[in-house]
Amino acid sequence: MNPLARLFTGFRARGGVHPEGRKELSAEPPIRILPLPERLYVPLHQHVGAPARLAVVVGDTVLKGQLLGASGGNISAPVHAPTSGRVVAIGDFPSPHPSGLPTATVTLSPDGRDQWIAADVPEDPFRLTPEEIANRVGAAGIVGLGGATFPSAVKLNLSRRSGITTLIINGGECEPYLTCDDRLMRERAEGIVEGIRLIAYAAGAKEMLVGIEDNKPEAIAAMRRAAQGTEVQVKVVPAMYPMGWDKQMIQVLTGREVPAEGRSAEIGVLVHNVATAWAVYQAICYGRPLVSRVVTVSGAAVVAPGNLEVPIGALAADLVKACGGLIGEPQRLVLGGPMMGTQLPHLNVPMVKGSSGLLALTGKEIGLPKPAPCIRCSTCVRACPVGLLPLEMVARIRASDLAAAVGLGLKDCIGCGSCSYVCPAHIPLVHFFNYAKGELTAQEKGKLRSEATKKLAEARQERMDRIVREREEAARQRAARKAAQEAAKKAAVEAAKTAEVA
Ligand code: SF4
Ligand code: SF4
Repeated sequence: MNPLARLFTGFRARGGVHPEGRKELSAEPPIRILPLPERLYVPLHQHVGAPARLAVVVGDTVLKGQLLGASGGNISAPVHAPTSGRVVAIGDFPSPHPSGLPTATVTLSPDGRDQWIAADVPEDPFRLTPEEIANRVGAAGIVGLGGATFPSAVKLNLSRRSGITTLIINGGECEPYLTCDDRLMRERAEGIVEGIRLIAYAAGAKEMLVGIEDNKPEAIAAMRRAAQGTEVQVKVVPAMYPMGWDKQMIQVLTGREVPAEGRSAEIGVLVHNVATAWAVYQAICYGRPLVSRVVTVSGAAVVAPGNLEVPIGALAADLVKACGGLIGEPQRLVLGGPMMGTQLPHLNVPMVKGSSGLLALTGKEIGLPKPAPCIRCSTCVRACPVGLLPLEMVARIRASDLAAAVGLGLKDCIGCGSCSYVCPAHIPLVHFFNYAKGELTAQEKGKLRSEATKKLAEARQERMDRIVREREEAARQRAARKAAQEAAKKAAVEAAKTAEVA
């Protein structure tokens, strides 16, 4: 148990590790605005749920904030033009994903005027009803900006119905290298606090807590200043990984534990990220949809690391260029943090709503020694924030016994990599778990597919049987009709004969 975890709030954090932060690379320079690139590539699917439905055609001119894609369902989010300009293409473009596979994307040519669409701004946002605030948050295309990208309006509506009491704003930012939330809190604390109050009002939460790690003293001071005179409470939590994991933050701040496979709403808690609170403030108080975000550009391969406010759809290459370019060829490109981020195949991919960081790492930064056999030291067990037994799970996965690994809690693993980080034998434990979870998903999909095929076959057989039954019934009716006609004919002949005799 990490002793630091008890110093600040009185509640214990389970597991956790202390990877080298490397935050000093990007934490000090203020946020810079990325100069408008020549092209912006806005994917229609940047969130959890159904993709947005296209709302423009090639050749349309649009204003900043105008709808490019409408919400595609109950769980979905619209996407908006990040600047004013002309739609020059609609089609597939590489996605910011390890595969780099193409995804439906609107390509915009900026006109340089960066002209906003007319905004609908309420005189006093707190005179709107909670439902109206949730609707405006939904229409602004706001999703969880901590990386989860779940549509925020859906979360607000569910929270109100579940009767949540506590809103937690996660200022943890525990991933090494990332400093975008730190800078946002230092520079835009008043707006974030206003966003927090609006979220709490819309969700029906009475208590508002902001958890910030103790390695961000300037952010803590700025948020405390901004929160003065409000009911927002800024709490300091120990800097450890994965403090930014919602369940860990909830436990440390409230002492309440979210049940395995459960949701925080079940224990009366709603969690949002600081950047989401800022986006809500912009949407409600200025009528501005989510069209940009702050991204940390860092890693030893970047000439001048820092934080940039970038329009959604700017290419990773545009960000690197604005940070002075690269020193040599990076060994690895990562979207997000180094622990839970995704590897990028190249820099020709757009930034999306969930992009918190872009890292260009050198071989020295990612160098991992060769794995050795497990020495059963149980360091991985102590590090796991979920309370799992990583060494036992790996043994089951190695023996291809996925069911046993699931029995040990494989599905609860959040893939944080804390176990791999501390393992003295350098066993890539988290890679085993990610692989096994992928296998399970494939197996479950296969099972669903074969069940669907079986149902289709049964439905077909039923249809064929019905056709045969209907044909037989039709033949029976034809025969009955024929017999009746013949009987009638015979009766008519008999009747005619009788009439003749008479
Ligand atoms: S930390 Fe590594 S060596 Fe130690 S028990 Fe876990 S897997 Fe084995
Ligand atoms: S990757 Fe999974 S098993 Fe390893 S520490 Fe994180 S939650 Fe625990």
